[in-house]
Amino acid sequence: MTALPDVLLIGGGNAALCAAPTAREALVAGGPGARVLLLEAAPREWRGGNSAHTRSIPCMHDTPQDVLTGAYPEEEFWQDLHKVTGGRTDEALARLVIRGSQHVRGWMHRHGVRFQPSLSGTLHLSRTNASFMGGGLRRGQQRLHREGLREARADNGRGG
Ligand SMILES: Cc1cc2nc3c(=O)[nH]c(=O)nc-3n(C[C@H](O)[C@H](O)[C@H](O)COP(=O)(O)OP(=O)(O)OC[C@H]3O[C@@H](n4cnc5c(N)ncnc54)[C@H](O)[C@@H]3O)c2cc1C
Repeated sequence: MTALPDVLLIGGGNAALCAAPTAREALVAGGPGARVLLLEAAPREWRGGNSAHTRSIPCMHDTPQDVLTGAYPEEEFWQDLHKVTGGRTDEALARLVIRGSQHVRGWMHRHGVRFQPSLSGTLHLSRTNASFMGGGLRRGQQRLHREGLREARADNGRGG
């Protein structure tokens, strides 16, 4: 009989494919690795959900860092989020995400994702957003996705 997973992820978009190695890492630290099972409804060629469209990620920072210029402080990020959502945002959760965005590049880099300086053009995102190498998640974060899938496969006991 197949063992029940410790973590069940439904839908293999960016959220789940980041959650898979995160769950694995979290439980590995405290003992045996988590058994992660990921269920995705889309066919193989559509895996990754809307990640295919994602080109950059907004990151809070107080000084210039790697691919980011200037500063994008927590308060400005929060005000931007508040504006685009028309105020329909949970402030506590939003601030948790905003503060976490300081560290996400390091975590993604450790999992094989690469960033590049923002391209010049009509959109000027070099201050607020870290761009994925090669123009989007198709080229960059797919590595993280593959890793997420490998983790999920390794842990569900089916081996591939
Ligand atoms: C055109 C476009 C451009 C974007 N650009 C950016 C950007 O530059 N920067 C940025 O930060 N964000 C951007 N986004 C937003 C970003 O892509 C999404 O917020 C993010 O990809 C959402 O990830 P997710 O895992 O929550 O959901 P999704 O990517 O939607 O993944 C959900 C997954 O669940 C699967 N699924 C659904 N129902 C079921 C079911 N019943 N059973 C099993 N599986 C199921 C789907 O097939 C899919 O794979 C963009 C979005 C779009 C559409």
